[in-house]
Amino acid sequence: MSHMKQVDSESPSDVAHWLRSEATDLWPAALGSLSLRRSRCIRENCPACLSGEQHQSYVLYDRAEGRRIAVYVPEELVPQVQRGLDNGRALQDLLHQVAPRYIKALKRERAEAKKSDEG
Ligand SMILES: [Zn+2]
Repeated sequence: MSHMKQVDSESPSDVAHWLRSEATDLWPAALGSLSLRRSRCIRENCPACLSGEQHQSYVLYDRAEGRRIAVYVPEELVPQVQRGLDNGRALQDLLHQVAPRYIKALKRERAEAKKSDEG
């Protein structure tokens, strides 16, 4: 963690640079919850449905622009979607770390501006 020792001297643009460099590898990045759903199909006398086992499919649930969404995810795409969700959480975590660092940097910048006004 080489950047940690700089936290006490960074400027707002240092924070921006740090965020960009940390976020670079976080693609795909997405939020939502992926679940395995069982459902009936429309075929008559379908053995899977008759046995009660039904059909499993992955669905991503979330809210987007205020609306609930449910998106079917083909099984072969699940690893990529899961990776996106892991990265999305990592990105969210980064943004939580940004708040205190950015505020600290803004205060430092303000204190230095004052100092140079007085000097
Ligand atoms: Zn069926």
